[in-house]
Amino acid sequence: MALTLPDLSYAFDALEPHIDARTMEIHHDKHHAAYVAKANAALEGTPLADVSCPCDVSSRLGELPEGVRGAARNNAGGCFNHTLFWKTMSPDGGGEPGGALAEAINASFDSFDAMKEQFGAAAATRFGSGWAWLCAHEGGKLEICSTANQDNPLMHKVIGDAAGCAGRPILGLDVWEHAYYLNYQNRRPDYVSAWWNVVNWAKVGEMFEKVQNKECCKG
Ligand code: MN
Repeated sequence: MALTLPDLSYAFDALEPHIDARTMEIHHDKHHAAYVAKANAALEGTPLADVSCPCDVSSRLGELPEGVRGAARNNAGGCFNHTLFWKTMSPDGGGEPGGALAEAINASFDSFDAMKEQFGAAAATRFGSGWAWLCAHEGGKLEICSTANQDNPLMHKVIGDAAGCAGRPILGLDVWEHAYYLNYQNRRPDYVSAWWNVVNWAKVGEMFEKVQNKECCKG
């Protein structure tokens, strides 16, 4: 098994009007597909060639020969980041989380609105292409950070501060122009505001539980 392109669990137009169908189709079928193909090509013949879980590749970059580490960082990072992005959105999304995640958000940020404000600032101020992240630590503490390009916090041991933080991502927002330009052009803050309407808090809550139970991010 190598890395694969996961199917979306909803139609390309399911997130409209917040994210348009054309953007979703190009983003999934072209951009994400290219990260999968390039990651698998880079990993061929390495100790991680048979790893099917993109979170594994991101967290194990240090096991790769130096010559392929950069390509794996960019492309396997792209695989993990987009896989998380798709599954933490839903046409039935929006609203606010409940349960343990809601308690953790209140404990770490004082309120849901304060968390959103900090996350939105991370997304707005990321210069160029990258991601904003809500990350969890074992023990329940949450942290917001952002990364450039396709870096992510799972790479922390190998790339240090470029990984944003040392937590595990439970929610990520793609702020590359390819994620929003067709519908929002240069208005990244409008895209970020609209995106909250499609966040699948039930799935983010599951991701939070996985971190607490030391389970793999996959699924
Ligand atoms: Mn993207």
